[in-house]
Amino acid sequence: MKLSANIANLIIPDYAPFLEQLQANYAAMDRQYDQAAAHYRFDCHACTDNCCRTRFYHFTYVEYLYIMEGVRALRPDRQFEIKSRALEISRKTAALDKQGKPVRLMCPLNFEKLCILYPYRPMICRLHGIPHELRKSANNRIYGGGCETFDRRCRAKNYFTFDRTPFYILMAALENQFKQATGIAGKIRMTIAEMLVGLHI
Ligand code: SF4
Repeated sequence: MKLSANIANLIIPDYAPFLEQLQANYAAMDRQYDQAAAHYRFDCHACTDNCCRTRFYHFTYVEYLYIMEGVRALRPDRQFEIKSRALEISRKTAALDKQGKPVRLMCPLNFEKLCILYPYRPMICRLHGIPHELRKSANNRIYGGGCETFDRRCRAKNYFTFDRTPFYILMAALENQFKQATGIAGKIRMTIAEMLVGLHI
């Protein structure tokens, strides 16, 4: 039987190998990001356009599970606070969506401009900000730009090849293995706030 999509409170046995592989994938992303950032001499210092206000979606259960690992390591009062924030963000997001207005709300995990689950943050939080490319096929590459702060500071510099394709392949393979092993069905597309709303504390 297929399990439900909400794994915020699901106890999944023997998932440690999946999270170890996820950590290895993240480490590979971080190395590539650091090389690119060094090339551009780019960092987020004094950035006034905090990307944690971006409505990022996350697409893998294994990342969702890892976020929940991080959440469970927090003090109970902090868990309560982030769930309260997530509920408030969800309420405001629904209202803004209804009005057709853009959503720029701070992620519930950001406290005083810092991510309190920085080692657990998902792929898009790690890769955002630096120009990149994605190989659709041998002759088809899609290029994506950097964030606004990157454009202001580094637009004039030569492009550093930042190919996200291997990371997407690694993550898709890991997600498939995880779903096969756990019996979880379907796909997810969730913000951090949506993940945290389902947290039982
Ligand atoms: S998970 Fe962390 S890095 Fe990602 S948007 Fe939230 S606060 Fe920012």
